[in-house]
Amino acid sequence: MTKTYASYINGEFVDTAKHFAVINPATGEVIAEVAECGEAELNAAVAAAKQAYPAWHALGPVGRAELLLKWADIMAARAAEIAELETAQTGKPIVMTESMDVPFSIDNIRFFAGAARVVPGLASAEYTPGHLSSIRREPMGVVGLISPWNYPLNMAAWKLGPSLAAGNTVVMKPASLTPLTTIEMARAAAEAGIPAGVLNVVTGPGRVVGEALVNHPDVRMISLTGDTATGKRIMAQAAGTVKKLHLELGGKAPFVVFADADMDAAVQGAAVGAFVNSGQDCTAATRVYVERAVYEEFLDRMTTRTARVKVGLPMDRDTEMGSLISVEHRDRVAGFVERARQAGATVLVGGSAPADPELAGGAYYLPTLIAGVAQDSEIVQQEVFGPVLVVLPFDTEDEAVALANDVVYGLASSVWTRDVFKANRVSGQIEAGTVWINDHITIVSEMPHGGYKQSGFGKDMSAYALEDFTQIKHVMADVTGKVVKDWHFIK
Ligand code: NDP
Repeated sequence: MTKTYASYINGEFVDTAKHFAVINPATGEVIAEVAECGEAELNAAVAAAKQAYPAWHALGPVGRAELLLKWADIMAARAAEIAELETAQTGKPIVMTESMDVPFSIDNIRFFAGAARVVPGLASAEYTPGHLSSIRREPMGVVGLISPWNYPLNMAAWKLGPSLAAGNTVVMKPASLTPLTTIEMARAAAEAGIPAGVLNVVTGPGRVVGEALVNHPDVRMISLTGDTATGKRIMAQAAGTVKKLHLELGGKAPFVVFADADMDAAVQGAAVGAFVNSGQDCTAATRVYVERAVYEEFLDRMTTRTARVKVGLPMDRDTEMGSLISVEHRDRVAGFVERARQAGATVLVGGSAPADPELAGGAYYLPTLIAGVAQDSEIVQQEVFGPVLVVLPFDTEDEAVALANDVVYGLASSVWTRDVFKANRVSGQIEAGTVWINDHITIVSEMPHGGYKQSGFGKDMSAYALEDFTQIKHVMADVTGKVVKDWHFIK
């Protein structure tokens, strides 16, 4: 029998009359039924978060850190179970959820539990005679968190960690394709003793629950990870209540390979960068620019390497790439490749679903390598969000930088060279929130992740994320006790 998952509102698991199905995209099977909330449930969650806020804020960083660490410990004790659930709802390999998604989410929460105890800022000082100024860094209040389906657990942790550690209370809306591990996080939070109303999870359609969250007058800030189109819509709607926004949107990362690069490392890095999580990663390497002197060699080697990526059932331990998130999304990815083909592109590897009958029930698509495309073509300019890598040549360093920057996105990028001067010169010129040198994809809880240009603004992870989920107050105290101050011109 399929399991039913409820929303988590004001410390209670709340079921609804209507449900929506969650499908394992690797098999096509329904694995769960989930409460389909509407505006009434969303309003109840916001009211609970508003009520819980003063006490959660007053608890202070030490009290909050203790609860967050306990929460992380409970998740760590259930790591294997959570990894299996994450694999079931996303179709990504179990080796990845076990070694990356789950431990990294736990690490993130532990990082924020500690980081919130070290609030950086200006020291108190007298900037004008007779007045002592100090800065209070305060939470926003009730924050709305909207997460995507590509890394459901990680994205929940990236948002819940800093917002709760900073003293906010939250209403989280997970993606409808992948709400299950976020609900399990809420279950662990309840067991850890995080008070009722501090963390609420409301499941249901973005167009209903998400929009109601964005429009709610008691919600002070929205953090979204998702499509750039959704980010634009939310920006327009948030104007109605002048909400602070934190948006991590699409990406189209360039991967720039100079002729002096370690070719083995660049080929391996491009395969990992492009096909991790079936390419459904906003930092995925999507456009490889190769210096013309080594272009043919790179293409040859990349063709062989791409064909070696092992696509298979996510629970098989030697599977390197599982399914995509849904059949609809797989068809969308296939549509991009088909249109590129019709426009004259050469598909060197992949370009179709795998023939393996064992995979026929799932949303699989082969790792795909494409050459012979123009810089202004759709496949180079738009986010495909699938296992599709395009390779283009360049002649000069300036041209490489210009091509890398020639998209509307600016989330991540990488530069491959043995020349330390060139690496640092180019990383200064690329318009992206992250530049890796001789690597691609690696992230750490201590360092920020976030976009330039239409990839959004605001940072995930690091002390910068804590800053984003807070606001600054200036407190200025008169230290003279005088009735008529020296500066008064109305005596
Ligand atoms: P969306 O941006 O639609 O979904 C992200 C989240 O936003 C989900 O929780 C969704 O809810 C919610 N949402 C959708 N519409 C609204 C709205 N009007 N107001 C408030 N919340 C809303 O991404 P998709 O899942 O549709 O994916 C589409 C494309 O977006 C992908 O193909 C990819 O290109 C890109 N994408 C980028 C990601 C990234 O990490 N940068 C992550 C995911 C997708 P619900 O699930 O209920 O619709």
